[in-house]
Amino acid sequence: MVVGHPLTHSLSPLLHNYIYRKLGLDAVMLAFPHPQVEGVVSAARSLGVPLTAVTIPHKETVSALVDEVDEVAKAVGAVNTVINRQGRLYGYNTDVVGVSYALRSVSLGKKNVLVVGAGGAARAVAYFLREKDANIFYLNRTADKAQVLADKFGGTVIDTAALSTTTFDLVVNTTPIGMYPRHQATPLPDFIFNSDQTVFDIVYNPLETILLRSARQQRASIISGLTMFIAQALEQVRLLSGQTMSFKQAEDYLLTKIQNKQYELHGN
Ligand code: NAP
Repeated sequence: MVVGHPLTHSLSPLLHNYIYRKLGLDAVMLAFPHPQVEGVVSAARSLGVPLTAVTIPHKETVSALVDEVDEVAKAVGAVNTVINRQGRLYGYNTDVVGVSYALRSVSLGKKNVLVVGAGGAARAVAYFLREKDANIFYLNRTADKAQVLADKFGGTVIDTAALSTTTFDLVVNTTPIGMYPRHQATPLPDFIFNSDQTVFDIVYNPLETILLRSARQQRASIISGLTMFIAQALEQVRLLSGQTMSFKQAEDYLLTKIQNKQYELHGN
């Protein structure tokens, strides 16, 4: 099951159920929009739910509810996947795999990276960027939360005034700003992009957010949150079953569904 709040437009059930069918796995994913994750994880344990995908805003609270936390998830400080193995719950962070796949072609060593947001997803991004030796700059509505990330993963907390005085090679949005139904919003309204930059928005609904559209129009390279989403979902399936499918097959399926309006993403 996938648990989060709100969860109205999660693509997880559609993608997981396709992968399960294609891999011949006897499973189905259901969505549980729920503001209290404790009860849901406890139900996953007692009902023997094999996989629980955890999303906004629960990722930082789940670690305490499982029996074992994987080393990467521990280092990140956020769990987004719970696997139930014979009643024992194991917590993982597949967002790191998703981020790593999305940024696989971006040079990061000693590069200046702006991370907007400081929640569960930002932790996975910051963990990965630190592994790649990037210079991380954090911008968040609540500066204290950004400072927690800077203390943990290294880097500098900045405010909006500093945006025009630093050159960023990569900009990553990890906030839900720009996500449906507030898809007319952007986390960086006055930002000037350039063709040397890459902009990665982890929001995938719409596929091209206002942030990505504006970056593309100013000739920056763009990466959609869909890439991260698919790669982390494939990792969830691998943790569950030991099996996988090609990224392209999963992507083709989702894009066809979206194009044919069999699954509606907004703003496209
Ligand atoms: P989270 O833990 O709740 O963190 C959200 C962050 O965004 C916080 O830093 C919060 O700031 C900031 N924020 C939220 N609303 C804001 C607003 N109106 N104005 C300014 N800042 C705001 O959420 P999360 O789990 O990190 O997820 C964040 C987004 O990433 C969601 O849209 C989620 O769907 C997406 N996501 C996508 C993927 C993917 O595979 N593509 C994977 C994971 C997450 P404060 O600290 O001030 O509260």
